[in-house]
Amino acid sequence: AKSLGKNTFVAFKREMTVATQRRVAMERDLRKAIDRGELDVYYQPQFDCATGVLVGAEALVRWLHPEKGFIAPADFIPVAEECGLISHIGLWVLGRACRDATRWPGRDTAPLTVAVNVSARQLRDPAFIDRVSEVLQSSGLPPAQLELELTESLLMEDVDTAVAFMHAIRGLGIKLSIDDFGTGYSSLAYLQTFPINKLKIDQSFVRQLPSERFEIANAIISLAHGFGLRVIAEGVESPEQLAWLQHAGCDVVQGYLFARPMDRVALQSLMTPVQSA
Ligand code: C2E
Ligand code: CA
Ligand code: CA
Ligand code: CA
Repeated sequence: AKSLGKNTFVAFKREMTVATQRRVAMERDLRKAIDRGELDVYYQPQFDCATGVLVGAEALVRWLHPEKGFIAPADFIPVAEECGLISHIGLWVLGRACRDATRWPGRDTAPLTVAVNVSARQLRDPAFIDRVSEVLQSSGLPPAQLELELTESLLMEDVDTAVAFMHAIRGLGIKLSIDDFGTGYSSLAYLQTFPINKLKIDQSFVRQLPSERFEIANAIISLAHGFGLRVIAEGVESPEQLAWLQHAGCDVVQGYLFARPMDRVALQSLMTPVQSA
């Protein structure tokens, strides 16, 4: 048993080293990724739940590594957050998203919003608000067409700073939504304090619809409406889920049932027929 324990420890140490090396390699590659043009922004369309009209899209970063191929954001965003590169990447995504969104058609009739994800690390950067303001100005995108998605855990890390940040963002005319709502630990009382526009029901709750468990999705929809907020469901994959959400009064839907994340060219060709129909 003694030698087995020792071998296990050696194997564990070797695995740690491999994991660390891979992390260091990824960080090095990530630093070059933007300059080399390996990062891209994809868009997943969002639709009015009742009418099916296109209302906006969420910007999702993509990394096409020259040797390793496609690397999922779930694999490199945490690394970028840890080493601080997320501020640089996040700002780049924001810039691209704002510039792309200025070219979206039909803006005069019903403005299409672009939703951009923001990490905790970005929020801690005191210059973030100024950078966002600069990006808006240089892109020319009307602020009301930009929405930032913040996660609950991010907001709960430092509530006072988060609230101040949110007021500054709203002061610029930008919209705010809470992403993955219901998965974190935020107190409901904070919904009174947070100057937000929208709650996003996490896909783990949408997945359980319509028959399994619907209590949480139901509660989030009533909660949002009780606070005068809009509510969006993400990860909608089946017509049954959509029917349930329509019945429950959800405002906006996003998911594979309607469209997968796509590049900006594909998004524009999807927009044109919808807008002119
Ligand atoms: P998220 O913000 O919760 O984004 C939703 C994720 O669900 C996306 O994965 C999207 O492709 C996926 N999805 C959409 N519809 C469906 C569906 O019907 N079924 C299923 N099973 N999945 C669906 P993706 O693009 O891989 O992004 C993963 C996460 O990476 C995002 O989760 C977000 O937290 C993060 N992320 C992506 N882009 C950025 C970014 O620019 N900045 C930051 N900070 N985080 C980002
Ligand atoms: Ca999101
Ligand atoms: Ca989400
Ligand atoms: Ca998520």
